[in-house]
Order: sequence, then structure tokens, then C-alpha cells
Amino acid sequence: ISSLQNFELNRDLVLMCELKDEATYVPHHRKKLVFIFSSMRHFAKELKDKGFEIRYTKLDDPKNAGSFLGELRRSIKDCNPEKIIVTAPGEFRLITELNNWEKKLNKRIEIRDDDRFLASHREFNSWAKGRKQFRMEFFYREMRRKYDVLMNGDSPEGGHWNYDAENRKTLNANTIIPSPYIEKPDKITCRVMKLVTDNFPENFGDIKPFLFAVTRSGAAKALKKFIKQRLIRFGDYQDAMIEGKPWVFHSHIGLYINAGLLSPMECIAGAEKAYKLGEAPLNAVEGFIRQILGWREFIRGIYWLHMPHYKNANHLNAKRRLPDFFWHGDTKMNCIHQCIKETKINAYAHHIQRLMVLGNFALLASIDPKHMHEWYLSVYIDAYEWVEVPNVTGMALYADGGVLASKPYAASATYIDKMSNYCKSCDYNSKAKTGKNACPFNYLYWNFLITNEDKLRNNPRMSLSYTTLGRMDEQKLDTIKHDSQVFLRAIENNELA
Ligand code: FAD
Ligand code: SF4
Repeated sequence: ISSLQNFELNRDLVLMCELKDEATYVPHHRKKLVFIFSSMRHFAKELKDKGFEIRYTKLDDPKNAGSFLGELRRSIKDCNPEKIIVTAPGEFRLITELNNWEKKLNKRIEIRDDDRFLASHREFNSWAKGRKQFRMEFFYREMRRKYDVLMNGDSPEGGHWNYDAENRKTLNANTIIPSPYIEKPDKITCRVMKLVTDNFPENFGDIKPFLFAVTRSGAAKALKKFIKQRLIRFGDYQDAMIEGKPWVFHSHIGLYINAGLLSPMECIAGAEKAYKLGEAPLNAVEGFIRQILGWREFIRGIYWLHMPHYKNANHLNAKRRLPDFFWHGDTKMNCIHQCIKETKINAYAHHIQRLMVLGNFALLASIDPKHMHEWYLSVYIDAYEWVEVPNVTGMALYADGGVLASKPYAASATYIDKMSNYCKSCDYNSKAKTGKNACPFNYLYWNFLITNEDKLRNNPRMSLSYTTLGRMDEQKLDTIKHDSQVFLRAIENNELA
């Protein structure tokens, strides 16, 4: 991490604090709290073993001031450092706070770039400058060229930049899926689990079983296992969802990259090497690399380019409050129930569950983006504002009016039925378009198009849907509106729906 570069063992001190402010600004999933505090404690121990002097404040230390400023004041009083060196944080609210430290603390503050990303702010901004539309695909191609990843001279490996068309296979319940990497909690993690149990009794999410890695070496093993056992099918089944199999062929490394336990380039290089050795096909390797070299960097660039107003964007004027079932999962909609249940147990859901089930529902039901933002930021173990906000506000909810996505990711039950087995055991009928037993995604989809017609009709990518809508007779349109109203009223009243 850049703040530790040029560290001198007999001159410098590392300050690490578990802060109540950071642990409570949203009601984080309890596994997320365990992961972060335990990783911090393991990192501090590793540094100590290497001879670094550490000042570490635990959450339950009676002297813990609970905030960055409070802990810095205490440390300055005790240690009187010449200056304070930090790595730039990943959230806008913190950079704003940090910029005031020098004045408030009367100390020199050196903010170093976070070099754990592959495109700097400067690079991204110069790519974005003058462009009317930002599309990940073009940014990604530049990143491939820059880092010479999956390239044959000037051309992309295999002749195409993107193999997504091959990546839409469906899974069946008999497909054998390798188990994910698991690590039993050690003494440090067990102590943190107790700390979180005692201090966050009301927070969402199961603490046990806690099986994630909390060290650099554990995270490296998780990456290795993914590349060896799952990467081969990552592309084929990237969009597939299946009841009771939350991990499918995804990598589950987002939490490690975001916390700094893995570097993005080692993940990319590991996947590219597997391709070169003939251990994984191009569609899988390109698909995986695109997520990290393309999406992850692009998302971060969009966040910093558009903050602070990006977080408050609400292009579609969605105002409905978050239904309670997002916190307990009790709904007759089996797809939502399964995704929330898995989120509660694992603090994890894969991309399509987040986007095409939970996000799609929130989009169609006009849930306020601010409520969704808080929910996503709370419940996922890999959630930090720089990556969560563009994914939620931009990608899932189209609240940015198309900065990130060229059209809303809105879909009826047909998509979920095709890509999962959720509909088979659902109380609703995925094929019925209207009526009491009809899947709510079906009438809500058309209701969404009707409600947002002024903002979406002229989008060329929506023209087919509006043509179909235009062919519907008055009676059908009235039924769609009526069924939607009944359903939306039910979720507003927290009735079982
Ligand atoms: P894999 O599917 O195995 O992908 C590999 C890696 O690619 C991920 O670990 C991640 O580092 C990167 N990646 C893939 N897609 C994206 C993306 N859209 N944006 C950024 N990185 C990506 N990702 C987060 O890291 N934190 C979040 O808080 C978060 N919130 C999301 C909310 C919504 C509504 C949506 C639609 C997506 C969100 N994502 C978020 C992106 C993506 O869903 C997760 O990165 C991914 O599911 C993590 O699981 P994995 O490690 O198994 O990823
Ligand atoms: Fe979800 Fe509708 Fe399928 Fe039920 S029928 S699982 S609500 S898409």
C-alpha cells in the first residue's frame, strides 16, 4: 500500500484503528465487519513480525475515540509525528474529510495515490474527456493494449475483443460445481467474531459459518483454486443462477481485491497464464479479465468523475421506499427470496443475482436509489462506495440517465426463467402476464415502460419494447396498470407479496 512505501523501521510508526464511525455509517453485514477487522488484525500482526512499530486501536478499546479525527488527535498527543502519510481513500466522503485534517490537526498530511488500480484518475479522465458517451467496451480495449493482455501484436487474441455471446449457458441441478475456497477461522478471527456478535447484535447477516480468507496468503490460495478449478467454466455459466448453489463458477475474489489482499494484475496474469497453458478456454479467460481490467477500472473511473452528485442521481424519479423483505427475504417471489437468503448467509450474491434479480426488481418497482444504495453498501462483503454506487445507481437502476449503461437493465420473468431454476418452485407463474398468480416481473416490466415513457421512448435500444407496447389494446394496458398498482400497494404495506 502506497502509505507504507519508503517506511523506515526505526523512524516511522503505523497507525491502524477499528472505528465505530466506519463500522456504523451503514448497518454493515456482520460477515463484512468480521472480514475487515480480522484482515486488519492479521495485517498488523504480519507487519509487527517484520519489525514495524504499530499503534493499533481495537474497536472495544475504552480509549478508542471512534473517529479518524479523534484517533489522530490521541496519537498526535502521544507520539507527536512530523507528518501523517495516508493512501487516498476509496470514498468521496472520506477524501472530503481528509482534506480538512491539515487545518484541524495542525499537522502536515501527505495523501498518496492508491496504486492498487490499473488506471489512475488522470488516465481515466483523459480517456473520458470530450466523449459524449462512456462505454466500457472502448475503455477496456485501451486497457488491453496498454497492459498487453490477451493481445497478438495489435489485434485481440482469437480475433475478437469480447466473447460474451458464448457466455450465456444455463446450468442444471446436476452440474458438478467445485466447492469454493474455505478457511477455518483462527484465534484472531474467532475473537473478532465475538466482538462483532457483542457489538452489532441487530445487524443484518449471519456471522457463522465464517470461511473467508483474512490474509494475503489465504487470498492467494483462493485465487489459485479459482484458476485451477472454476475458471474453465466461468464464461459458460457467468449468468446462470441455481437454487442452493450460490457460488457457481464465479471467483469470489472481489472482497480480497477491494481490501488489498490481492492485486488486480496478479488475477489477470494468473488467468492469462492458464489460457496460454491450455488450461482454460478463451471465452472464460477473456470474460474474467474483462471484469477486472474493464468493468472494475471503468466503474471506479465513473465514480470519481461524477461524484459528489452521482450518489444522489434519480433520473427516473423513483420514490418508493425499500420493502422490508429486503432485510428478511420473506416474499412469495422465489428468485428474490433465494437471493436475499444467500446474501444473508454469505454476504455474497453473484453479479446476475445483484443485477437481474434484485436490481431489476428495484428498477421495475421504482425503489428510491438512495435506499437501494444503502442496502447494497451494507449487505455485500465487497461493498465500498466507489464500486457500489456506479453499479447500483448507474448499472442496476439507470438513475444516472445513461452515463454508465446505454439502456436500463429491465427484464420480465422470461430472463430469470431462462437463466435460473427459481421459477420452477415459485408461487407465481412466470408465463402468466397478468392476473393474481402472474409473475410480478411481467406486469411491472410493462408498467415501468409506461411510467417512464417520456424518458425512455426515444432510446433506440428500447424501440422494440415500445413497439410491442404500442400494439397492446387499452384493456390490456389497464390490466397491467391495475395489477401493478395492487402489487406495489401490497409491498408498500409490507404485505406478503
Ligand atoms: P466474479 O464474477 O468472479 O468477477 C471477477 C471480478 O471482476 C470481481 O471480483 C470484481 O473485482 C470484478 N468485477 C466484476 N464485475 C464488476 C463490476 N460490475 N464492477 C466492478 N468490478 C467488477 N462489486 C464490488 O466489488 N462491490 C460492490 O459493492 C458491488 N456492488 C454491486 C451492485 C450491483 C447492483 C451490481 C449489479 C454489481 C455490483 N458489483 C459490486 C459488481 C459485481 O457484482 C461483483 O464485483 C461480483 O459479483 C463479485 O463477485 P466475484 O468476486 O465472484 O466476481
Ligand atoms: Fe421470480 Fe417471477 Fe420466476 Fe417467481 S416466477 S421466481 S417471481 S421471475
